[in-house]
Amino acid sequence: MVDVILEAPRRGKPPTHLLDLPREQRKEAVLAIGQPGFRADQVARHLLVHHDIDAEHWTDIPRNVGQQLTLLLPELLSPVKSIDCDAGTTVKTVWRLHDSALVESVLMRYPQRVTVCISSQAGCGMNCPFCATGQAGLTRNLSPAEIVLQVIAAARSLDRGEVAGGPGRVSNIVFMGMGEPLANYSNVMRALRTLTQAPPDGMGISARGVTVSTVGLVPQMRQLAQEGIPVTLAVSLHCPDDELRDSLVPVNNRWKVREVLDAAWEYAAASGRRISIEYALIKDINDQQWRAHALADLLVGNLVHVNLIPLNPTPGSKWTASEKSDERAFAQTLRDRGVAVTVRDTRGREIDGACGQLAAATS
Ligand code: SAH
Repeated sequence: MVDVILEAPRRGKPPTHLLDLPREQRKEAVLAIGQPGFRADQVARHLLVHHDIDAEHWTDIPRNVGQQLTLLLPELLSPVKSIDCDAGTTVKTVWRLHDSALVESVLMRYPQRVTVCISSQAGCGMNCPFCATGQAGLTRNLSPAEIVLQVIAAARSLDRGEVAGGPGRVSNIVFMGMGEPLANYSNVMRALRTLTQAPPDGMGISARGVTVSTVGLVPQMRQLAQEGIPVTLAVSLHCPDDELRDSLVPVNNRWKVREVLDAAWEYAAASGRRISIEYALIKDINDQQWRAHALADLLVGNLVHVNLIPLNPTPGSKWTASEKSDERAFAQTLRDRGVAVTVRDTRGREIDGACGQLAAATS
């Protein structure tokens, strides 16, 4: 069995930031530095509503007070570089964290929506052999503020009209960057609350526009169902049978396909949200017709949608994407069996910003 790392190392924990805290505690933190509590909401609005992290711009707060308040706003994310493709509508940013760890986020603009793909960990401990992030192992969990600030940065560049297509706003967030979000459960929950609650608690992004993607950590999937935050849950299944999944998604050695799907259906029942099944099609590995039928057997009749992802080969990978004809046949079989399916558009391939390519190389 290939080892997976379920618990992140504790080293490298970033300094506490106001956005690590829920609203009541933000107030306490502001009081603790000798400022009146109402400043907490003012600062939160600057960050969460106006996406403005620069105290110099805050006209409703005296400059010396603003400077004091920045004690609670350590710079957690510094941009290393941003690269774009798809005529400027896909932008990948590499961030350096306070301890030099690197993470990436990707902004994707579509005609009717803007999606930000964010990281929840520096690296990943899940060890999926086809994923670039998995190859480098896990460095550490991101803090709630480190997660939320990726979204704020994207929102800020949209506000300023820096993304092709003019000013806009973030409508969707996917936890499909680096890391396994459910292995960083409490920080991801704190971040989800901040992203989805109305201002000044949070950014006011609809939970319906947020997708949390998991390899299938069953206890945490069950816990998520109890949180009352109706995000979409995506399950990286990639395979209907345990024999192959044990090697494609090594955590399958701990929680089998059946258990993962049972937890997914519990989530669908609790949230009323359709489960998204991620399936990266790998040539001659998991793209056979019999597997399409086996997948349909598992899914049919449930509140579910399959997202087929053409594999993005990682450097040195022995695997490639399925032939287009096999991809079409796989999708058609699912459709014929009554399972909703789409083939994911693979934005950002040429900037290593597509699924599974985020490896934080800064060459
Ligand atoms: N750890 C979480 C979220 C991050 S990955 C998870 O595994 O769900 C987001 C999605 O990209 C997952 O479905 C993952 O399996 C998929 N992915 C990873 N590497 C890929 C690759 N090389 N090609 C296509 N999809 C890939």
